[in-house]
Amino acid sequence: MSSSASSALRRFSLLNPPRSSLPARRSSPSPPPPFPAVRRSSLVVAPLQAPRRFPIFGTGGSIASNKGLVEQLRQYGVIRSDKVAEVMQTIDRALFVPHGNPPYVDSPMPIGYNATISAPHMHATCLELLKDNLQPGMRALDVGSGTGYLTACFAMMVGPQGRAVGIEHIPELVAASIENIKRSAAAQLLKDGSLSIHVADGRYGWPEAAPYDAIHVGAAAPEIPQALLDQLKPGGRMVIPVGNIFQDLQVIDKKPDGSINVRSETSVRYVPLTSRAAQLQNY
Ligand code: SAH
Repeated sequence: MSSSASSALRRFSLLNPPRSSLPARRSSPSPPPPFPAVRRSSLVVAPLQAPRRFPIFGTGGSIASNKGLVEQLRQYGVIRSDKVAEVMQTIDRALFVPHGNPPYVDSPMPIGYNATISAPHMHATCLELLKDNLQPGMRALDVGSGTGYLTACFAMMVGPQGRAVGIEHIPELVAASIENIKRSAAAQLLKDGSLSIHVADGRYGWPEAAPYDAIHVGAAAPEIPQALLDQLKPGGRMVIPVGNIFQDLQVIDKKPDGSINVRSETSVRYVPLTSRAAQLQNY
């Protein structure tokens, strides 16, 4: 996110203070499970930008329509391109937010199973970061696909000649996300198979459709999973929150020669990328 976009977002969030009704976050993350992770020393890590301090969500006030939400995100500089505005208008967020929650408020919402649908400004930020790697015909992987909202956006952007794969480890969320997508503008892509959602541990990616031009991870990993890095195409980009309590949204570019560049976009708070058992503890 550019600094002007992030200061617009800060203004936006300050104007719209956090909701007190949001679910409490888990305070004691479980220990990282044993799976292959990238050694930091094997990466070229760009200097981190100073963490930006802004509340990660606010209420969207009286926004009554998906169009209104998209316009507001655009006005505040979070959506900067026609491409992202168009896909967020086409995929109506109300089809993905569980009943009883206001769909157009700029805030994460509980979806059960200790998970949330991310706030619209985070969806917009990730779409903006990935848009050049979501061109027609390209391949996208959405790890921790939850409600299926972003997977559906990816599918619309890469189109029928492309491939969008969602991976989610809670079977009930996968079933619900498929129902959500069937009601959305991405239904035909699901039917035709260019969009699919699978029950699996996303830390291992989805090798069947690799390599990917774009990988999005919707849950915070203690370290960048090696399998995801391996499944990123040269020239591809991954956006992934990394960290435990303090997390950075990292943007990882695999250059055509295979070398890796990592930069930190902003400070975020996501639910952990973990095992199913750890996520469902105390649920
Ligand atoms: N981006 C989604 C959901 C974000 S919440 C949306 O906006 O709707 C993060 C999701 O990651 C949750 O649904 C959680 O169940 C899932 N998750 C966490 N760890 C996972 C893992 N190891 N493999 C697959 N999914 C995982």
